Amino acid sequence: MQETSLMIKIFGEPVLRKKSAPVREVEDRHRELLREMAVLMYDGGGIGLAAPQVGINEQLIVADIGGALYKLINPIIVKRQGRQVLEEGCLSVPGVCIKVPRALKIQVKFLNEEGQRQSVEAQGLLACVFQHEIDHLKGRLIVDYASFLQRLKIRKKLEELSRRASHEKLSQSEAKSCKLQL
Ligand code: ZN
Repeated sequence: MQETSLMIKIFGEPVLRKKSAPVREVEDRHRELLREMAVLMYDGGGIGLAAPQVGINEQLIVADIGGALYKLINPIIVKRQGRQVLEEGCLSVPGVCIKVPRALKIQVKFLNEEGQRQSVEAQGLLACVFQHEIDHLKGRLIVDYASFLQRLKIRKKLEELSRRASHEKLSQSEAKSCKLQL
């Protein structure tokens, strides 16, 4: 197992609500950060992770729905098509599942680890993951998509999360209560 000193930030921490700045020049520290984010994502049983979730407001995301690890810097959605609704969880909002409407197919432009401009097309689950992580870069969380009734239902849970420190180890059942962790 590779090492990382990063920790997942939990709902209530201001860093999750800030807009992340684009990376001006891709440096070694970004490559190292992406590597560590991937370690943390796999460790947490997640399929996506954004830099604000580890306390860094820069536009970096990682994703892996099985088979390929994506590392995207300054990702921007340039095309959207269709609609899908999946029940999403979030490593930063453990114990909460929200149905989120997303585009079914998207095209994302980004920089790779060498700072080169790239483009990727994604659909279904991968498109969902990219949209979820890009939301993180804008300070947007799955709870923002909750209906009025859902908001009432999860209010206590969110208050509880806000009160506790992010370094507290989550129980397995709590972290895994939603199938998709992003
Ligand atoms: Zn998330």
